Amino acid sequence: MISRELFEQYAKAIDTNADMLQAAVAQLEAKLSGIPPSEVESALTTAYMALVARYGSFAAAIAVDFYAHQREASGVASAFVPEVSGTAPAWALRWDVSDAYTGRDLAKAVEKLGGKSVQRVMEQADDTLLQNARHDPARPRWALVPHSGACGWCAMLASNGFVYVSEATANKSRHPNCRCRPVVDFDGDPLLEGYDHGRYEREYFKARKAIEDDARKEWAAMSDDERGRWKVKGKGAYDHYMRNRITAQMDTRRAGE
Ligand SMILES: [Zn+2]
Repeated sequence: MISRELFEQYAKAIDTNADMLQAAVAQLEAKLSGIPPSEVESALTTAYMALVARYGSFAAAIAVDFYAHQREASGVASAFVPEVSGTAPAWALRWDVSDAYTGRDLAKAVEKLGGKSVQRVMEQADDTLLQNARHDPARPRWALVPHSGACGWCAMLASNGFVYVSEATANKSRHPNCRCRPVVDFDGDPLLEGYDHGRYEREYFKARKAIEDDARKEWAAMSDDERGRWKVKGKGAYDHYMRNRITAQMDTRRAGE
């Protein structure tokens, strides 16, 4: 079990890191305002990449620290030294900028990159935990603990609870501004102190029940072509379609709370 105290420390550190990153990204608008329009995109790319690299390395370090502490607290006997890993690929960051700057509006681009940068940096914390969990002989399990006000997608991921890393990778997919905290646990009773994971499970099943009949009818009415569009790597088309419907339903319910 992860102690409340350790989790709160970790959550605070990783949240503060995201806050500082967002503040730094927000400053880019003023910093780049005087330069010639033709140079804005490349300057924005350089600055954005530097910020993601800097705060991403902090996020990875915070994740390693959490990993080491939780491993120690669990009394695992085998020796293993966790390491930081995961840098956001340069092509992905370049894509973030060109996508955010399509309208040639610096203020809008900076706002969009604020959310995107948090995603990129949190992914480095995810990656650090997942890579270590993969190599650790103690085989910890992995979960995402949603922040308050998390969206349906994140609540759906949280409903999976603690899983082995091999199962976790398929679900790894953050959205901009996602601040869910990735965690690992090592003992047989993998719970976070004071955390009601069942709440997300119940939400999931309620949402599933609410849309099931309708979704089945809709699926039955689709052409093969339409069904084929739901096919993604590693997941059947129907499963993917259903997951999408359930997530949307969870989102609607969460927004109405
Ligand atoms: Zn999230």
